[in-house]
Amino acid sequence: MNLEIRAFLCLTDNYGILVHAPETGATASIDAPEAAPILAALGKEGWTLTDIFVTHHHADHVQGIAALKAAFPQARVTGPGREAATIGALDREVEEGDSVFLGPHMAKVIAVPGHTLGHVAYWFEADKLLFAGDTLFAMGCGRAFEASPAILYRSLLKLAALPDDTQVYCGHEYTLSNARFALSVDPDNAALQRRAETVAALRGAGRLTLPTQMDLERATNPFLRVGEAAIQNSLGLAGADPAEVFTALRERKNRS
Ligand code: ZN
Ligand code: FE
Repeated sequence: MNLEIRAFLCLTDNYGILVHAPETGATASIDAPEAAPILAALGKEGWTLTDIFVTHHHADHVQGIAALKAAFPQARVTGPGREAATIGALDREVEEGDSVFLGPHMAKVIAVPGHTLGHVAYWFEADKLLFAGDTLFAMGCGRAFEASPAILYRSLLKLAALPDDTQVYCGHEYTLSNARFALSVDPDNAALQRRAETVAALRGAGRLTLPTQMDLERATNPFLRVGEAAIQNSLGLAGADPAEVFTALRERKNRS
């Protein structure tokens, strides 16, 4: 059976995401940005929270854990072992290559250092689903807070190597502003132009823009396109090493 997913906004622009395995009723929250909307979504579906899969230690991803645990004391909190001390509430510490289960559905843990050092993504290979946290966004990527941009770039390449039809859920709804920035460095990209129109219409109608799909990201996300001449030329870095182009692009986005 297919995993069922509910995505909704928490705080200002964080994503609340519930993943439900109908075979067993197991239900995971991806991160815990804000307890109230997550509890409301669980209540609306009649789902019992069994797991919280944490991507990284930032407050806007973990601050709801205590309240969710208070409501569902059996829920097990899984997250990056490298950030166990800062997160403080992990029942299970995971690292690159570990497997986690939601009912019969298996996710592989992918270490994606950069935004934070211990950041992990959860990849449900058979279900073609990726929960990328604040590493990969629609047409964007997270800031390299705890490692060099070159290390973040390597992490993004790991995600970009996943199959074309992988559905990608991210930690934030930053899609509109990311589209604007992407067009500023890749203005002649027809796929990007079309996508910018699509997401503007979605946001105009009050809809969310996720999930995205990996082949669409590879075609429109400038941070995955730093090997392309179009991006290199607009940064004045024709022929440069992609990691160097990525670094320049990330710095430009930081200032935008
Ligand atoms: Zn973050
Ligand atoms: Fe965040």
